Amino acid sequence: MSSPEARFVAREKLLTCVHCGLCLAACPTYVELGMEADSPRGRIHLIRALEEGQLVPTPEVIRHLDLCLGCRACETACPSGVEYGALIEAARPYVERFRPAPARWGRRALAAVLTTPALRRAAFAPLRLVGGARWVRRLARRLGSPWLAYVAALQGAARAPGLPGVLEPEGRPRGTAVLLTGCVAETAFGRTNVATARLLQRAGVRVVVPRGQGCCGAVAIHLGAAERARTLARSLASVLGASEADWVVSNAAGCGALLREYGSLLPGDPAAAAVGARARDALALLAEVGLPPPSR
Ligand code: SF4
Ligand code: SF4
Repeated sequence: MSSPEARFVAREKLLTCVHCGLCLAACPTYVELGMEADSPRGRIHLIRALEEGQLVPTPEVIRHLDLCLGCRACETACPSGVEYGALIEAARPYVERFRPAPARWGRRALAAVLTTPALRRAAFAPLRLVGGARWVRRLARRLGSPWLAYVAALQGAARAPGLPGVLEPEGRPRGTAVLLTGCVAETAFGRTNVATARLLQRAGVRVVVPRGQGCCGAVAIHLGAAERARTLARSLASVLGASEADWVVSNAAGCGALLREYGSLLPGDPAAAAVGARARDALALLAEVGLPPPSR
């Protein structure tokens, strides 16, 4: 099936893939499903066929792209330096308009709920009441339900202790990091943010936690809502980019990956370029500055 050329992705980025397949073993969806179309190489092939108008986004094609976790393990495995993340993130908004209307509106509503603090907290409140409970974990296993498994993985209803605006470094100062607390991460995994900040502090990093940060846009872009993602990114960049920090740190892989691409997501926005240039994954930064000794 073919359609006119689509022009939604930079063609030169598609052409860097030489189809060697060295990324396949690193891809969790390929390892699990064993289908070429669920591998990085297969998805690049699909995206190229869409871009060149040789294929239209049928539900089957969209499903193979949807199943990509966006983990980017394929990028580190690829010897040709294929920017897979940029390809899949260009493809998601393109295929969005070909979904049936109920699915499209459902995904838009989900993006709006997850990226709006009051709606997100209201949505997570009942789930957090049972989050982390052993009986939910057992039930999820018995029923084989991935949705219950997500609920079981949530941190319980007890509120994480609040983070101060600044955590002064312990020991020899290594630099200043501004911490992205995130949207879903802040609501569902607040204690992970606290642990990240404390660990960085103990490693000698001064940690700044600006108030009113909001979502980085990753959730929206993964749901194909590119315009909403840009609006959120612009707002966050104006908060984080204003700081004089050496690093902008995230402990969520999807958020960190998008922060690094803020410059290309918002061309001509100096605050976004500043965030992109200083973005670091929390674990990568800890590896760089050195882990503190374990506490007794
Ligand atoms: S993405 Fe990289 S590793 Fe994978 S097939 Fe293409 S060139 Fe090879
Ligand atoms: S981002 Fe992850 S799931 Fe998606 S193709 Fe690459 S390795 Fe596979």
